[in-house]
Amino acid sequence: MKLTAALKLPSPIQALAHPLCKAKQLKLWVKREDLIHLQLSGNKWRKLHFNLRSALEMGKKQVLTFGGAYSNHLYATAAAAQLMGWPAIGIVRGEAVKPLNPTLRFAQDSGMDLRFVSRSDYRRGVDLAAELGLIKADTLVLPEGGTNVLALRGCAEITEEMEEQLPEWPDYIVLCCGTGGTAAGLIAGLKDRAEVIGFSVLKGDFHQKIIADWLLKYQQAFPDQLSSIPQRWSINTQYHFGGYARFQPSLIDFINESRDNYQLPLDPIYTGKLFYGLLDLIAKDYFPPQSRILALHTGGLQGIQGFNDRHGPLIHTP
Ligand SMILES: *Cc1c(COP(=O)(O)O)cnc(C)c1O
Repeated sequence: MKLTAALKLPSPIQALAHPLCKAKQLKLWVKREDLIHLQLSGNKWRKLHFNLRSALEMGKKQVLTFGGAYSNHLYATAAAAQLMGWPAIGIVRGEAVKPLNPTLRFAQDSGMDLRFVSRSDYRRGVDLAAELGLIKADTLVLPEGGTNVLALRGCAEITEEMEEQLPEWPDYIVLCCGTGGTAAGLIAGLKDRAEVIGFSVLKGDFHQKIIADWLLKYQQAFPDQLSSIPQRWSINTQYHFGGYARFQPSLIDFINESRDNYQLPLDPIYTGKLFYGLLDLIAKDYFPPQSRILALHTGGLQGIQGFNDRHGPLIHTP
């Protein structure tokens, strides 16, 4: 696929020099998926990869997807479509607010045709898009957030990259969870070769079931990839900071320190909560000494600009 030439793969691994790791005798690596591409970054690229490949094989030539006004998935899909030379339609939840926020402005500037629909229409998803006549035979239709079994397949690939990159195999792999698709794909790729901890960025205790369901769907879709359902994973629900896109000053301070002191830029919606939770667990001796931990930086840095526009310039930018 032509667009992969524009991507930095495998994504680099950063050994995080944090005093807490030294004090607790732990090794912490960060797989910097945010560096894959400036706009087509992180897990959103991983989720698009096999979807785009199979769409090309099926002769598809355009893409339609769904998202909220600050959606990393809409943003990445717009970037991917532009790199592919494909027309793209983005169905956006809620009224258009002008001027457009930085996420939607980027999508539109990349050539994505944005259609704003009411929340109740948005919930009708593909049915609505079909009624509006937006789905053609050659349209690749992707769900909100980009999670489907092909997306999981792309996330499973991360583990193959790690095998070639890491000097030592990790005991733990940690990442943040929105829909849980990235976690499910990673768990499927790992096949119990490390303990996975997913940090939920939403309030509630629903990821366990969603991820288990995705693993079953993945096994049905790719029986040769997964002979048994992996068991070594859990979800931490303690670091959502009040819910999706909610935050507290301690999270903002942590994100700024992380960029300023450890060369690790984080976003407030996803990766900031992951690393806050991870370092808090390290401080509380959750991990035995000598543990090797790999944290997946799933990207999402595009969201900082929109966040600062809404809340004031809270998060330092380069
Ligand atoms: C979308 C997103 C996630 C959540 O991924 P899921 O597969 O939906 O769990 C995590 N991190 C970042 C940066 C994201 O953009």
